[in-house]
Amino acid sequence: MTPTPLTSRDLPLRSGDERPGDPMIRHDMTTCILCTRCVRACEDIQVVGVLDVAYRGEHAEIIVGADGDPDKAGCTWCGECVRVCPTGAIFEVMPRQRFTADQIRRPERVVRGVCPYCGVGCQVDFHVAGGQISRVTSPDIEADTPNYGSTCVKGRFGYDFPQHKDRLLKPLIRRGWQKEGERWVWRGARGTERRGGPWQSIEGEGGESKPATPPRATGKSVRQLPLLERVDLDIRDRVATPGPWYEPFREATWDEAFELTAQELGRIKRERGGDALSCFSSAKCSNEENYLMMRLFRAALHTNNVDHCTRLCHSTSVAAMQRALSTSAASGSMREVETACDVIFIAGANTTETHPVFGAALKRACERGAKLIVADPRRTELADRADIHLQMLPGTDVALFSAMLSHILARGLEDKQFIATRTTNFEAVRQAVAPYDPERASKITGVPADLIRRAAEIYAQGPNTSTLWAMGLTQHANGTDLVASLLNLMLGCGMIGRWGAAMMPVRGQNNVQGASDMGAIPFVYTDYRSVKDPAVRAEYAKVWGVPAESLSLKEGLMVTEVVKEESGVRGMFIMGENPIISDPDIAHAEHWFRELEFLVVQDLFLTETARYADVVLPASSFAEKTGTFVNTERRIQISHQAVPPPGEARGDLEILIELSERLGLPTRFRSAEDVMNEIVQVTPSWAGATYPRLEGRGLQYPVPTREHPGTDFLFADRFPTADGKALMVPVEYAPPVELPDDEYPFVMNTGRQLYHWHTGTMTRRASGLDAREPTPVVEIHPDDAARLGVGEGDLIRLTSRRNTMVSAARVSERVAPGQVFVPFHFREAAANLLTNPILDPYAKMAELKCCAVRVEAARSPALSPA
Ligand code: SF4
Ligand code: SF4
Repeated sequence: MTPTPLTSRDLPLRSGDERPGDPMIRHDMTTCILCTRCVRACEDIQVVGVLDVAYRGEHAEIIVGADGDPDKAGCTWCGECVRVCPTGAIFEVMPRQRFTADQIRRPERVVRGVCPYCGVGCQVDFHVAGGQISRVTSPDIEADTPNYGSTCVKGRFGYDFPQHKDRLLKPLIRRGWQKEGERWVWRGARGTERRGGPWQSIEGEGGESKPATPPRATGKSVRQLPLLERVDLDIRDRVATPGPWYEPFREATWDEAFELTAQELGRIKRERGGDALSCFSSAKCSNEENYLMMRLFRAALHTNNVDHCTRLCHSTSVAAMQRALSTSAASGSMREVETACDVIFIAGANTTETHPVFGAALKRACERGAKLIVADPRRTELADRADIHLQMLPGTDVALFSAMLSHILARGLEDKQFIATRTTNFEAVRQAVAPYDPERASKITGVPADLIRRAAEIYAQGPNTSTLWAMGLTQHANGTDLVASLLNLMLGCGMIGRWGAAMMPVRGQNNVQGASDMGAIPFVYTDYRSVKDPAVRAEYAKVWGVPAESLSLKEGLMVTEVVKEESGVRGMFIMGENPIISDPDIAHAEHWFRELEFLVVQDLFLTETARYADVVLPASSFAEKTGTFVNTERRIQISHQAVPPPGEARGDLEILIELSERLGLPTRFRSAEDVMNEIVQVTPSWAGATYPRLEGRGLQYPVPTREHPGTDFLFADRFPTADGKALMVPVEYAPPVELPDDEYPFVMNTGRQLYHWHTGTMTRRASGLDAREPTPVVEIHPDDAARLGVGEGDLIRLTSRRNTMVSAARVSERVAPGQVFVPFHFREAAANLLTNPILDPYAKMAELKCCAVRVEAARSPALSPA
């Protein structure tokens, strides 16, 4: 081909795929200089490979996949390309829609914080314009942060929910409460009307018709999509708090709200005792806030009924790890898994969707040669990339892990020296796993025996194998046994206690580790020190300035025990949690909350739970407060306040300080740093943590002194047990509580999606995230869909032994035949209507991952119950 003569060339404006209409990322290739940083970042850092250079010479351009369709190409909207593009050719849409070019270019300030979503704990920079967060960027890749410059779609684009019009700006009090003289009295309706309101129950909404899955660009040339988005349509309005929900409330002053709250909590304590009260603290709140909450309930209200969502997350991991190793946290660091391990074994963790920045690190580990084994009933992205995918039937993990250990022992691949010097009770485990040869396990799990053998050999031969797990393993009624059998496999092979052999329960929310460390669990104070130990109690009583006898020596109730008639709990304080969506068997939970004597909810929005409250306290979001958070690798990090809370909303810390004072507990802190200075007095493993030291990369505890550098991996020589050895606990396989049968032939699994978070309170009000995944779906295998005569987007009805609900089908090979996957973020198709509330005997975790359901086509509008 003859090159165009230089003299007749204009400097060509580049073109390329523009992603028109995209809610988060678009391209203006006229400013592209073809540096290919975006292509390399997508391929080498995120290991996604969506972008490429097409054509040659002067015609070269940046393309998205083969046909301009980011969905089809597998884009995860992480924004790594936005971060690295030096010219703004790839840019983020949201700031340009709400702020001027000058505001974006010259923010009033840039403040370092921690992402409010998952336990990876990515550090991010909040840019401030006009008193709001104008955009979020990540620190330099060279900066020593856990995320090394990356974020996922939630961290980079999920920041606008605090400005949503649903945001609570003033305290609310339920109409019916009146002040008469010095006291508040209830003059409203009694009985079932007491907490009623003009809304449908979650159960009622579950049965209604639903929109089809969103019309994604998949299969369509992006050039055929409309060039302009509908600027008149605020997509967030669809999930806004419905107007009638506010009707049972009136706006109140803070003084009224505090007065009524203090009066009623105090009254219930006086009349029924402290154990008639309970609080749900929050894994979304800081360490300091969780510390103050448990301090308030223990020292002012005299109960250990303090818990939070860890109960529905890693409580079974904590139970199993405490029993075996006397620890409740990961042994290692994310960096060692990325750079130093030879084999990664992941059980029940969809890391690239639930912890995407860590997921990318795992993919980079595979690129450098680490072997990947995934044990998961679903074909997740990592399962697709894995050297071995053990696609077992849900809930059969004990049989699988036991068979792996049994085969390892049969081949003599165990670490004999580690077993002899670092563990006890190995012989009992040897006997327990002996009957589970791979053939027998194959019949139970559905995984071919040869695959089990190969996986076992790779795991044992490491030389450094890291073991990761998450909710796929823990959220079972025998979750403690499931984790215990995985720990046996790990200990039998000596895969802990050295750099590259990490034990990592991958934590869910951004501070679920910290909330647990701070004693927001019913049987321990900070640092997991028992509430039953009088010596420990005396230590806390002294620091809190209360008589030791006022602190209860009785272990409190857990989340899943509280929401039961027999719990005796009559008054509740809920900070930043939404149990009416997250608890199993929602219909029962919703009924229970309606029967309470007094309910206070502290939150950003009038959530599904808050609508039943007596008092709603408007609190602060992630960028509106300073505090510390602990990520999944025990790293304590500071997040700084960037903007003030809007309206009359207040910082959670400020609210808890005021309430403590009103309940007679001296709490004269002025800042989160003051609270940390008290925390370190009663938390030996944090004793060396100070705010100045936590700046930058933070500190991984244990950090016992002011000079200690923190601990990146644990257990090199001994475990923190009495004899320094790990206790191996024999476990018997038991089938899941509900197995499919003729009436309920499918197994339902629940979990998260990439674009949403927990009960959707935040992400469904984040415009970009919600635009990507705006409606509830149920994933079903193509063969099952065809058999039921169901196509993509068609309505299907799911019925379990507890309830029924309707949702739209997403036909996908990610689920195995005979299984369905239901994300739990959506009020209108709440997965937990169907789940089984039976509890793990040790950790009181519910069976959230496995219940038997019937699946039928549900053709609108005839949606009468099947
Ligand atoms: S990073 Fe930006 S300038 Fe460089 S090739 Fe990609 S789009 Fe073009
Ligand atoms: S990986 Fe987790 S912490 Fe990091 S940006 Fe995403 S949601 Fe936030």
